[in-house]
Amino acid sequence: MPFQALDLQLDWTPYYSYGEGDAYAALPAHGAGFGKAAALCIGSRQCQKAIGQAGEKGVMCPSFRVTQDDLHSTRGRAALLRDALNGTLGDRPFVDGALDAAMALCVACKGCKRECPNGVDMAALRAETLAQRWAGGQRMSLRARLFADLPHWLPRLRAWRWAVLPALALRERIPLLARAVERVLGIAARRSLPRPAARPFLTHATASVAPSEASLPEVVLLVDCFANHLEPDVAHAALSLLESSGNRVHLLRPTDGGAALCCGRTAYSSGRIDAARAHAQRLLDALAPHVAAGRSVVGLEPSCLSMLRDENHQLGLDASRVQAVSKASLMLEEFLARELEAKRWVPGTPRPSALTDPRSAESGADPDRPAPDRAQPGADQPPIQVLVHGHCHQKAFGTLKALRKVLGALAGVQVDWVESSCCGMAGSFGYEAEHYDHSMRMAELALLPAVRAAQPEAHVVASGTSCRQQIRDGAGRDSLHLAQLLHRLLAAPSGSVR
Ligand code: SF4
Ligand code: SF4
Repeated sequence: MPFQALDLQLDWTPYYSYGEGDAYAALPAHGAGFGKAAALCIGSRQCQKAIGQAGEKGVMCPSFRVTQDDLHSTRGRAALLRDALNGTLGDRPFVDGALDAAMALCVACKGCKRECPNGVDMAALRAETLAQRWAGGQRMSLRARLFADLPHWLPRLRAWRWAVLPALALRERIPLLARAVERVLGIAARRSLPRPAARPFLTHATASVAPSEASLPEVVLLVDCFANHLEPDVAHAALSLLESSGNRVHLLRPTDGGAALCCGRTAYSSGRIDAARAHAQRLLDALAPHVAAGRSVVGLEPSCLSMLRDENHQLGLDASRVQAVSKASLMLEEFLARELEAKRWVPGTPRPSALTDPRSAESGADPDRPAPDRAQPGADQPPIQVLVHGHCHQKAFGTLKALRKVLGALAGVQVDWVESSCCGMAGSFGYEAEHYDHSMRMAELALLPAVRAAQPEAHVVASGTSCRQQIRDGAGRDSLHLAQLLHRLLAAPSGSVR
């Protein structure tokens, strides 16, 4: 039987020019650019750095760090993928077995793309591998479909909120019920599940700066599905922060009258490349006029912004449009650092309430409530403590430098950094029953011990929605998005000037 023909779902043409010379003698027989991308691994094993060795501050490879198994490192996966593309794993390597096991613990953190000397991009190779699995005839589980289509389900969950909330509460109160859900759906019984918000941010939020204030700089706030439906406080805080620092903010809504926009992240990570492409196309269409007008696109969720900056380039979309949007897209911290540098944003003085009650404005808080009186932190006042965990994709795109700059500009704030790899949640990974233990072991490498050791009054900051969930589940503590932290600490609007 011939080798399973591959109809590649991602665009691997940029890799076509690789593979000249001896270093690439191990080019696989099949897979064209996909194979060449796997052949980038030359086996130097830096992806197998152990905690405690030089370079331990890096991200990769979290699954190797908790298993110490070559198969669960970037190197092991690349080697098996080359075997698959050479036909040594059988005629249907993407549908049957071994490759599936090797990819199962890859959390798509992109650590390898940044830290591997050859830039092996296992997150993209994994997405193509999954896509080939579905193309080869393997059925997606109900759980995989639920996660892939999350942006489709979130608005529906809200409509059924009256039933969903009691059902989720019952599941958490009755272990037998949680285990039954685990058996049927494969969602870990030991996980709490996020609650749909009463009102999605985009259904009622409006940017409040009048259009007549044409002289203000304009930005687009990209409100992702998670902030919109699960944590609207994050989006409220970001909108308030951007407006109070003198920007005219555009909230992105669909131009075709259809469902809310989505970057395609959940579909992409599940190997549903067609769906990811369709989402990305709609988002590009909505962003194009803003980008053409010279507006920056400010993102809140690192993995969603990563779609705009990175994954979209492989989806076969209009390259010039993808490039323009990619260049215009910034994480909130990058935008603020740029404004800080240009002296267009000067952070105000942290509020005194932040010194005494860090939890009062966390989950469920009303971001529109009046600010308490401001006070200068005096010499006799202790510094406001902030503990920061960086999302893998913030690390992969180097945005933590900007985050350092922004937090460093806050008077009276002491910032500590968790030298962590992946938090272990990684989107759906930590919810999957068979991956729960690995997920927690990743978190226990550094993140959860650091959060537990933090002073009770310290603010824990994590800009990824999955990271915040992991911290809540693993350390029983709420954490804040950067937007929420700044909204809490800075007295707006008088604390921000332009
Ligand atoms: S994936 Fe990169 S770091 Fe790991 S063995 Fe291959 S070339 Fe070396
Ligand atoms: S994406 Fe992350 S988990 Fe996957 S191979 Fe690369 S470093 Fe390891």
